[in-house]
Amino acid sequence: TDPALIRNFCIIAHIDHGKSTLADRMLQITGVVEDRQMRAQYLDRMDIERERGITIKSQAVRIPFTALDDNTYTLDLIDTPGHVDFTYEVSRSLAACEGAVLLVDAAQGIEAQTLANLYMALENDLTIIPVLNKIDLPAAQPEKYAEELAGIIGCEPSDVLRVSAKTGEGVEELLNEIVRQIPQPVGEAEAPARAMIFDSVYDTYRGVVTYVRVVDGRLSPRERIQMMSTRASHEILEIGVSSPEPTKCDGLGVGEVGYIITGVKDVRQSKVGDTITSLNRPATGMLSGYQEPKPMVFSGLYPIEGTDYPVLRDALEKLQLNDAALVFEPETSAALGFGFRCGFLGLLHLEITRARLEREFNLDLISTAPNVVYRVEMEDATEHVVTNPSEFPAGKIAAIYEPMVKATVLSPSDYIGQIMELCQERRGDLQGMDYLSEDRVEMRYILPMAEIVFDFFDHLKSRTKGYASLDYEPTGEQQADLVKVDILLQGEAVDAFSAIVHKDKAYTYGVEMTKKLRELIPRQQFEVPIQAAVGARVIARENIRAIRKDVLAKCYGGDISRKRKLLEKQKEGKKRMKMVGRVEVPQEAFISALSTD
Ligand code: GDP
Ligand code: MG
Repeated sequence: TDPALIRNFCIIAHIDHGKSTLADRMLQITGVVEDRQMRAQYLDRMDIERERGITIKSQAVRIPFTALDDNTYTLDLIDTPGHVDFTYEVSRSLAACEGAVLLVDAAQGIEAQTLANLYMALENDLTIIPVLNKIDLPAAQPEKYAEELAGIIGCEPSDVLRVSAKTGEGVEELLNEIVRQIPQPVGEAEAPARAMIFDSVYDTYRGVVTYVRVVDGRLSPRERIQMMSTRASHEILEIGVSSPEPTKCDGLGVGEVGYIITGVKDVRQSKVGDTITSLNRPATGMLSGYQEPKPMVFSGLYPIEGTDYPVLRDALEKLQLNDAALVFEPETSAALGFGFRCGFLGLLHLEITRARLEREFNLDLISTAPNVVYRVEMEDATEHVVTNPSEFPAGKIAAIYEPMVKATVLSPSDYIGQIMELCQERRGDLQGMDYLSEDRVEMRYILPMAEIVFDFFDHLKSRTKGYASLDYEPTGEQQADLVKVDILLQGEAVDAFSAIVHKDKAYTYGVEMTKKLRELIPRQQFEVPIQAAVGARVIARENIRAIRKDVLAKCYGGDISRKRKLLEKQKEGKKRMKMVGRVEVPQEAFISALSTD
């Protein structure tokens, strides 16, 4: 295809502002998907995505479009994931485009992800087309938000397009503007091939399908290619485009977007952000921006039934084929038995993985409280990377470093006080504040990741009546006063409950955890002290009093059936007990104590 007739673009939007619906309408208006095959959110393929209404994996689709100038253009729409956990994947999708449609709900206005994505698009030098969506809604305020949008990107309010992705109004005009405003791709057709991987998906039948954007040169079937980050080489078995079903073609040239299949079985051999070149005539430099996927949040996953352990291992291996960011290694817990310590990009990634394990592999799982990764420097100059609180090093610590995030909060200005209060409680540091319009404010914070990944968003929502939105990205590490709190039953530490917390919060954590456990653990034949300790120092304590030996003493008279019931109940209870030292703890207690809500 002549690059002059190619336009590569993506749609960026805050969640729910209508990105998937707009993509649907584009496919329908251009006849790519026939009306009768149309289903909502055509591009969101994974079940969990459809259920939760979020796009997890990006997809590309080729849309032929005859513009007002009577030329038929090839529009490549690259759908990007909409959630903060997948920022890196978003950034690679953006890097595969020359332009972006910035879509904003005309009844909501700009939100945190709108801005975060806009900044990322500007960093990649993309042409931005501002668009207000949902103009069919009675609550839409296009005048107001066109002004807001124009103010941010520096255009006139009249340059802001207005569409309804639902009814299709304005969508054809938008396609014409994409052709008119977004530059054609430029690259050197005669140079050694360079193509960027912006997505990589495992398919049971075809192996890994790698989505690429060719920058220079050309990729052809049967050619041997090389991954520039690892130097691994493969043969291209199939090359094609999604329109939207996979369609073979005889090669991809400058500016083209498509997929290749090489027979590799694991997405880690075909990593997002990597550069593909030709083995016989390799390029000298990689395309910029490649990063290794890096898990940010760790959690222990344990099967509730111990016999499910091998099933869990197989399931994790299967998921990993399609998820380069998922890492895991076996772990044993005195409290929970055999399981795996798993690393995730963020909390949503954890939730999705867990849901898939339970649903697709029919597993019942316990997950331990998630934690971030700490770096501990010892006085003897050794260093530990801690992904599991119970492995926090003993000995003389020189410094502990925790990962930080750069957060953007957008909110009506009425809630500035509440947001500042929350961010302060979470050890945040205000970096700056800007008014987007007279009643909407953008606040920028540096916060410890540990304070933000768990329930921060829920608190932010409840303190702002749901109006604030949040986006964040990792930004290095910072030294902090952190301690490990252990929870002990009868003097013995229960590994699954160890946590790394800020010094000022250790006491609260200790008190809450010991209280919770006192309620959850049944009385035993002897007294059981529950303690929270930092090192050798006990900071909180509860007691479970002993029971008298004869459980039947409670039953007056000779109601045999009642006695038997009680005995049976006791026997059944025994089966699901875990021993911690001499203490019998029902597995239920662990599960409830570890559940975050
Ligand atoms: P995404 O999260 O950005 O992909 O948003 P979706 O495309 O999933 O849309 C979120 C919700 O907004 C869905 O319930 C859509 O039906 C609805 N929606 C999207 N576009 C429009 C529109 O133009 N008008 C109206 N009334 N609703 C829309
Ligand atoms: Mg969507």
